[in-house]
Amino acid sequence: MRRARLCEIQVTLAITRQATACQIPLPCPAYMRVGKCYTVNGMPREERPVNERLDPALVDAFAGVFLNARDYYAEQLEDGSYVARKSFIAQADLEQHLRGQRTLGAYALDSQNQARWLCFDGDEDGSWVQLKTLALALASQGQPTYLERSRRGGHLWLFFDTPLPGRLVRRFGRGFLGQSDLNLVKEIYPRQDKLQTGPGSLVRLPLGVHKKSMRRYGFVMLDEQPLAPTIRDQLALMATPETIAGAFVRQYVATLPEAPPPYEPRPLRVLFAGDGEQLSDRIKRAVFVPEFVSQYVDLDGRGRGLCPFHDDHRESFAVSREHNFWSCFAQCGEKPHGGSVIHFWQKMRRDVYGLDGNFVPTITELAQILRLEH
Ligand SMILES: [Zn+2]
Repeated sequence: MRRARLCEIQVTLAITRQATACQIPLPCPAYMRVGKCYTVNGMPREERPVNERLDPALVDAFAGVFLNARDYYAEQLEDGSYVARKSFIAQADLEQHLRGQRTLGAYALDSQNQARWLCFDGDEDGSWVQLKTLALALASQGQPTYLERSRRGGHLWLFFDTPLPGRLVRRFGRGFLGQSDLNLVKEIYPRQDKLQTGPGSLVRLPLGVHKKSMRRYGFVMLDEQPLAPTIRDQLALMATPETIAGAFVRQYVATLPEAPPPYEPRPLRVLFAGDGEQLSDRIKRAVFVPEFVSQYVDLDGRGRGLCPFHDDHRESFAVSREHNFWSCFAQCGEKPHGGSVIHFWQKMRRDVYGLDGNFVPTITELAQILRLEH
């Protein structure tokens, strides 16, 4: 497929600019029928996959934009959760994703803790409008972004011209959220500054089918019209998205207040319990919550920090040395808004890593991390 030329018309917003170019009718081979693939609100309808090959160079470029590693990946299950697959992600896997036969996830950080993109995620009522506000705030500074519908709201994607440290990218994202005072956009991917255990957080790779809703969600413009009329056309655009310069990110972050000093953990207190005690009780007694949590959350000297479970710019997260628990003022924990190390790890597994957050796999993994026999 020929890619439409950009920029024949000068417009202010990069998102509008690309879309304007794509409205030129293209001789699109019928993976999806041009112009008839979307409902009025810009959400793509289900389409019939055909056996025609997608352009391998485009698929490869698309993978290069979204995937930080090619030797492992995540796959979405029917309940919407993900499993990690430790194998090379091949062209055929990506084609199956784009045809809606399987659904893959894109990890947000590479093994060097670098990110090629940032994704704001909003899934509450009203968050879609806030994502658009954010897109406009960035566009007013000449920075391109891409709006994608999702099951309960949407994503706003930013692509960088060079891989950037996760910590820098997250400070940039939090800075923009705080500056615009957008309280409903609660998550920024990557969700960690750096990897601690496992491959970290992930976002559903765009242009596939969400396994839970069985719907395909495309990229749209600010007026809700599709960014391009078909998934095949959207693939062509997203294979070479407009990017934000690393220099702009660094300059912006330099204007933000200094990050708080790191929390100094005390040595791990290991208390040995009697034989009859439940594994969960042994774990709770073995772990000093401030010390454990500080491996995953930057805490200041008071034990306060940015909550990993919502996109926090008010340091809502706190640990208590005295009571050995954590809490979040935005009510991320169990009542009374906090919890034990087990609850922390359940939420990390479920919300940050996209893994099964049920009790048994959580305590099994914690016992392994803590090297407790069971
Ligand atoms: Zn929270």
